[in-house]
Amino acid sequence: MGNAKTNKATSDKQKASTTPRQVPQRQAEKTAPRTLTPEVGAALFEDARSRLEDVFKALDIHADAQARLMQPSLSLQVSIPVRMDDGRLKAFPAWRVHYDTSLGPAKGGVRFHPDVNQHEVTTLSFWMAVKCAVVGLPYGGGKGGVQVDAKALSSLERERLARGYIRAIADIMGPDRDIPAPDVNTDATVMGWMIDEYEHIVRAKMPAAITGKPLPLGGSPGRVAATGRGALKVLDLWAERAERTPEETTVAVQGFGNAAYHFATLASERGYRIVAVSDSSGACYNAEGLDIDAVKKAKSKSGKVTDSQAGKAISGDALLALEVDVLALAALENQVHSDNVDDVKAGAILEIANGPLTSDADQVLAKRDVPVLPDVLANTGGVIVSYFEWLQNRAGEKWSEAQVNERLDALLSEEAGKVLALAEKSNITYRQAAYRQGIERIAAAIMARGNCQDCR
Ligand code: NAD
Repeated sequence: MGNAKTNKATSDKQKASTTPRQVPQRQAEKTAPRTLTPEVGAALFEDARSRLEDVFKALDIHADAQARLMQPSLSLQVSIPVRMDDGRLKAFPAWRVHYDTSLGPAKGGVRFHPDVNQHEVTTLSFWMAVKCAVVGLPYGGGKGGVQVDAKALSSLERERLARGYIRAIADIMGPDRDIPAPDVNTDATVMGWMIDEYEHIVRAKMPAAITGKPLPLGGSPGRVAATGRGALKVLDLWAERAERTPEETTVAVQGFGNAAYHFATLASERGYRIVAVSDSSGACYNAEGLDIDAVKKAKSKSGKVTDSQAGKAISGDALLALEVDVLALAALENQVHSDNVDDVKAGAILEIANGPLTSDADQVLAKRDVPVLPDVLANTGGVIVSYFEWLQNRAGEKWSEAQVNERLDALLSEEAGKVLALAEKSNITYRQAAYRQGIERIAAAIMARGNCQDCR
């Protein structure tokens, strides 16, 4: 049940048809707009933690390590005052959370979103801890968020907010403590403001304190596309094991932001047929394969993929229900849940976003033997290249884009290869295998720090 079978037979059947299923009216409302209330956020964290129990049992993790892994090690809530362009002062709630830091400094992005809350940031920091360990990076988990509608701010207001955030968390960050990076609605420009503020505070040049920076400030070539590139590498490794070629594989992509766009572009260049992409306006679908550049042009012009002539407009729900070989989820959390999982017809799921499947949806897919390439493996490309950026900053080196991409490929071949092999050998899901690989490493670091070895 729910094992690592590559599901080629099912997918072969599906190759013939990529027609969007008619979505009945009542289903049109199933993918609710993202309202991550504190209650939903709390459930998200419980959901995330529940995945640990299986690992604790399977690996016989020491009780000390279990206790440490159940809660964040540091959680800071702040209020960021921002002088708005019209002269008013607004205060935005914000958080920075460190999950376990036994393996190294906390590492993780900063999100600007109206629904951000403490539980969500905690959950994201937990996933960061797991994912850094899965791919063997010397980092713990970190995440930050500001509860704000970033799109409603002017550029100057966003800059004041970004600088205020760094002033608020400066005491708990730094190259050896916690290294922020971009996430939803933050990018290299925002990281440029943040590192400038941090270097003013510490009165020193310290580029390794933040990653995802603009190139002139010590950013790494290849960082912007890294999450998409890493996800493609994981898909390639899985497809090779399934003896499936890119040309015979259809893919629908939920999302068209940074991660999704680069994934769709690179996957399309590699030969995969990207039949649909979406954003919050709906989806753009073409059974023959989309011209991703053409969709990008329409999106840049009107802000909506549904305005592209590269395909026909369908709803976001219809995209989730497409009969494709791979459904790549690259938008936000909780997109496939108990109410819409039965509509999903894809042969496999690639989780590029963090937590796009709820654990009950995950269980349904496991029972149906639908392989899921989990977030803690599939979206590690970004943090891996952030690690390369940090290494370059600390060594005063500059690597070429080709070097970065080559090292990313090599690291993922090794670490993702181990996860896929473990899943297949132990007849467990890829998620279970990834968690086992990551948690075993974190637990070993916790115990090696001198905790009691004999007091079970
Ligand atoms: P982004 O803000 O650039 O893009 C998010 C995209 O999702 C946008 O295109 C938005 O329109 C779309 N979207 C929002 N709601 C949607 C809906 N209901 N249906 C379809 N599309 C919807 O963010 P991003 O950086 O691409 O991140 C996307 C996901 O990937 C997040 O979960 C993020 O945590 C994760 N991630 C990103 C990186 C990275 O380096 N960018 C790294 C690891 C994980």
